[in-house]
Amino acid sequence: MQLTLWTYEGPPHVGAMRIAASMTGVHYVLHAPQGDTYADLLFTMIERRDSRPPVTYSTFQARDLGGDTAELFKTAARQAYERFRPDVMLVGASCTAELIQDDPGGLARALALPIPVVPLELPAYQKKENWGAAETFLQLVRALAAPGARAERSASVSSRPPSCNILGATALGFRNRDDVPEVRRILERLGIEVRVVAPLGATAADIARLGEADFNVVLYPEIAQRTADWLKRTFGQPMTTVVPIGVGATRDFIAEVKTLAGIDKSFGREQTRLPWYARSVDSTYLTGKRVFVFGDATHAIAAARVASRELGFEVVGLGTYSREFAREVRAAAAGYGIEALITDDYLDVEAHVASLQPELVLGSQMERHIAKRLGIPAAVISAPVHVQDFPARTSPQMGFEGANVLFDTWVHPLMMGLEEHLVTMFRDDFEFGEGRAPSHLGHAPAPAAPAEVQATESPAAAAPAAGSPVPWTLDAEKELRKVPFFVRGKARRNTEAYAGTRGIALITVETLYDAKAHFGR
Ligand code: SF4
Repeated sequence: MQLTLWTYEGPPHVGAMRIAASMTGVHYVLHAPQGDTYADLLFTMIERRDSRPPVTYSTFQARDLGGDTAELFKTAARQAYERFRPDVMLVGASCTAELIQDDPGGLARALALPIPVVPLELPAYQKKENWGAAETFLQLVRALAAPGARAERSASVSSRPPSCNILGATALGFRNRDDVPEVRRILERLGIEVRVVAPLGATAADIARLGEADFNVVLYPEIAQRTADWLKRTFGQPMTTVVPIGVGATRDFIAEVKTLAGIDKSFGREQTRLPWYARSVDSTYLTGKRVFVFGDATHAIAAARVASRELGFEVVGLGTYSREFAREVRAAAAGYGIEALITDDYLDVEAHVASLQPELVLGSQMERHIAKRLGIPAAVISAPVHVQDFPARTSPQMGFEGANVLFDTWVHPLMMGLEEHLVTMFRDDFEFGEGRAPSHLGHAPAPAAPAEVQATESPAAAAPAAGSPVPWTLDAEKELRKVPFFVRGKARRNTEAYAGTRGIALITVETLYDAKAHFGR
């Protein structure tokens, strides 16, 4: 095991918590020491949900280890049933509790509760969060999906519209809650009835009805592929293979569901601005931008496709932390003539980004931080999530509206780069001259320079400004003041950092330009 500051995925029982927290009437009893209750915060702080996840911990302490921890678990399970009255109970152990081998499944069976109890075997030292979520969803479906549902479907096949289930959306998933309504709208516009959405928003009774639908829509293969495979084997339900992220994939998805549903209905007008915006004149300078993509497999593969085919970027790096989907990501990367990066070590990813020097990074919150450190524009496309990935507004990634969101969130960081470029081009323009105020403040003269700058203007003043590690010559200070006010601070800091790392004792005009060339590379 490796100690780390940051991780792409949590342990598998966090995946199980995501399934329980997605559904209604499901309660998870987790054999876990006191400290493991931290996982609640993922849901209350990061996802900003207004209630605790439906999880009861046995919360044993160090002093309990010599005693009867199994009894503690049984008491926790009994009390959880009496207090929450769930329709179904999940039972399992966290990483630490796995080591004491108390067998939560057997202990819960001994309680003979009057509801289905689903034991979870989640090997914490071999598997991770997404696998844990996929396994939990599969075990729940295996336990609850009613065998009679298929007969129901066959009996009414000619008298009802085609129908499907939407599988894979979960709590803590990247924009999952906004993707589902978007995909549902597409399906309903085609006249396809959505029977069940699961796990997000589903009840135990919904899971029992899964077999009634004609086919399954797999939105996030990391979570739903194994369940969809089982449903295919058990109920003969086919499934979708296209994830509708981007305009092209949404069109392919529509074609695929029409085939699965056996319909030939026109979708009608597509509400999307991405194709036109991407061709419009102020976007063409983006063509050929070098982009690095990293995330879970679903989002990384889709983002590379949109970046390359719909925005005209060059994909110079593609990778995933989802080892279970390494094959798919390798195949996608080969299509761009590159080798996929399969790792869950963010330091590997950072080294890769630093060596590739892309102009845009599309990744998780970790890649956003890496890009920030390296001064590269970035946008978030994938979990692991941060509180800002749960915006108050609706912000899907899927469908035509999702494509609009992708355009906005990926292209705007690049616009900042363009602004800096314009600033460089017009830096000698009279409007940027000393004594001119920013145009949005009218044309009044600029306020007097701060005391710190005045001090360095005196002939004897080749001394560091307050807090500055390296002194500036007067000429260099003057040259710096030609830099527009809103990037002047950054130019000063960059130059001082550059001088500091090279042991330069006095910043001259030449140092200023050397630093500019260095950071502009
Ligand atoms: S032992 Fe497992 S549950 Fe506990 S803190 Fe570590 S990863 Fe989290």
